[in-house]
Amino acid sequence: MAEPGTGKTIQWIRNHVSYPHKDWCVIWPFSTTRGYGRFSHLGKAYYAHNFMCEQAHGPAPSEIHEAAHECGDTACVNPHHLSWKTPTENGLDCRKHGTHVRSRYGSAGKITLEQAEVIRSLKDTRRLRELADEYGVSESAISNVWTGKTHYRPSKINHWTTEEDDIIRDGVAKGLNFAQLAKLFTGRTVSGLTARAYRIGLTSGTPCPPKKVIPDFVGTPPERQS
Ligand SMILES: [Zn+2]
Repeated sequence: MAEPGTGKTIQWIRNHVSYPHKDWCVIWPFSTTRGYGRFSHLGKAYYAHNFMCEQAHGPAPSEIHEAAHECGDTACVNPHHLSWKTPTENGLDCRKHGTHVRSRYGSAGKITLEQAEVIRSLKDTRRLRELADEYGVSESAISNVWTGKTHYRPSKINHWTTEEDDIIRDGVAKGLNFAQLAKLFTGRTVSGLTARAYRIGLTSGTPCPPKKVIPDFVGTPPERQS
């Protein structure tokens, strides 16, 4: 077991308690699966998001408060996306693995993003009526979640997939600059890519990769349509 304050996990948490960026999720890096991150420290087991919430925002105001995700990604530990909420406020229905529906915390119009994620995942296996009863909302409220009319993930939160991270790593290894890298993506800006690359440690402490000049296209121009 790690010494107090010297464990890799605790050190990582300390380094991210004051994480400055709000606009994207910080995925717990010590799990091989998605969902709530967990770790043990001095013989005690913790949920990563709970621990981070306490480090960043102080202890839970009461025993029933839970660390809630504003972004709906249970693997995220970005302190800006975490806050203490009561179960009613949180409407946290996916307790441990994001699949088990525990009870009806919601009230009409009070479906949280986390609940919505669960509701969406149940689209093919559950009936509208059952879910409406379970969450204490109208059938149209559930239907709106299913169709994406409400509760889709806010676009200000940029989720980067591991595939995208791999493309960035690959591109940087090949010497592409960020403008060239951005051309490999749709819906990503050069500054977004630069920030992400920094986030995954690619430019931290090392100079930006040298700009490689891609020669202009020198072939015969296509025939003009007449
Ligand atoms: Zn997040």
